[in-house]
Amino acid sequence: MRMTEQRRVIARVLAESEDHPDVEELYRRCAKVDDRISISTVYRTVRLFEDAGIIEKHDFRDGRARYETSSEAHHDHLINLRTGEVIEFQSEEIERLQAEVARKLGYKLIDHRLELYAVPLTDEKK
Ligand SMILES: [Zn+2]
Repeated sequence: MRMTEQRRVIARVLAESEDHPDVEELYRRCAKVDDRISISTVYRTVRLFEDAGIIEKHDFRDGRARYETSSEAHHDHLINLRTGEVIEFQSEEIERLQAEVARKLGYKLIDHRLELYAVPLTDEKK
């Protein structure tokens, strides 16, 4: 893939993001760095990056595709249904269990996605 200056900006902005922005949010952040970047460029670039495996696309059921840079350290996500906040977590126990389930079914686990949709425990006390 040819890394144009604009693509480089988009890649950097996404790499520096600690959340999971959608294209519009990503566009807003990129436009602050380089105001020549258009939203259609961001859309196209995000698709290119996704095809190249540089970034990961998520669907957290709010109707917007969200993106993050593919990381070496695997993590899963918990989505707070009240606020939409996305919390990253790692659980060795879950990882082990998933591999175990696949193995029992006669498969070797290659990849997985796990999203927990949750409400705060404090909700129930009200
Ligand atoms: Zn994440």
